[in-house]
Amino acid sequence: MDAKMLPKADVSGFLGELRGKGYEIWGPVEVDGAVDTMPLDGTASPVTEYWNSRVSPKAMVFPQSERMFVFSVDRSRPDAFILKEVEEPCIGRLAFAIRPCDARAFGILDKVFLVQGAWQDPYYARKRESMVVMALGCNSPCTSCFCHWTGGGPFSREGVDIMMTDLGEGFLLEPVTDKGRELLQGIDLPGASPSNLEEAKGLQDAATAAMGEPLDPSHIRKRPLLEMFGDSYWERAHEACIKCGTCTYLCPTCSCFDIQDEVRGQCGVRGRNWDTCMFPLTTLHASGHNPRPTGKERFRQRFMHKLRYFLDDFGTIMCVGCGRCVQFCPVNIDIREIIRELRG
Ligand code: SF4
Ligand code: SF4
Repeated sequence: MDAKMLPKADVSGFLGELRGKGYEIWGPVEVDGAVDTMPLDGTASPVTEYWNSRVSPKAMVFPQSERMFVFSVDRSRPDAFILKEVEEPCIGRLAFAIRPCDARAFGILDKVFLVQGAWQDPYYARKRESMVVMALGCNSPCTSCFCHWTGGGPFSREGVDIMMTDLGEGFLLEPVTDKGRELLQGIDLPGASPSNLEEAKGLQDAATAAMGEPLDPSHIRKRPLLEMFGDSYWERAHEACIKCGTCTYLCPTCSCFDIQDEVRGQCGVRGRNWDTCMFPLTTLHASGHNPRPTGKERFRQRFMHKLRYFLDDFGTIMCVGCGRCVQFCPVNIDIREIIRELRG
């Protein structure tokens, strides 16, 4: 058996060793009374007793703002530009103690960014390829979590390289993939005992049972698409929403971005920034026409994309049930209610 034990007192040493091997490590950190997933540069300690982080780990592979390349005018041919890729120095990114729902969310982002062929996103692909995911299972899932509706669970192993279970004094580390096994083999930690494995199994089963009966959102597919699109439901459903975009920025599966050039003199940088379907500018055409002119269309887009279009295109909804949008929406819009109503 390849499972090992990581005593809690040894976490910083463990991370320091991996940092020494060249990993850029991200994990949950306390920030102004909340927990966000951020780079662990050696000065901040990861928090391991938390429900879920406010900011998800998606920025590890899809940063909020990212430089794509720099450009300058070619002085020998003033009608041409010289393009230069922005270099990325690290050998690997390690996600430490993120939640299993967020590990699954990378699989949803992969469907968008890792399309085979010319549409593959090289900026995302480079970071994703070198990534190792250590997920900390949820011994006590939060009331806003509904990962089990979406095919996940508090100890789901989908997208996980090493599964961590909190056993009190330390973490059981169970390798799930060859990548995870390889990482653990190179680190000197005590092996897990049969009683460690048995205790973890009990915690994992109890947490899964505590989630209750799931509701399958894919039933939404039974309703004709055009009927859902034209339903007067959206008129009243969107009214409370203030279109602040919080839900989409915190969501681990939302992937919209906007590309901008910043130019100074004869050189500049092309970058991209997260965008959100909740803002009118996102779809404003240069002509002045906007195909989603009011809040109703924008609200409908968010839920139809997550719950219907993505399901039709990829066979899964674009949600892992992390519950962030439920927790942080300032007007208490709850995607679980929308799923129930759309199913009806
Ligand atoms: S967080 Fe709530 S109010 Fe803000 S855009 Fe999302 S649903 Fe609307
Ligand atoms: S839609 Fe809400 S619950 Fe689903 S993954 Fe995004 S933030 Fe989490």
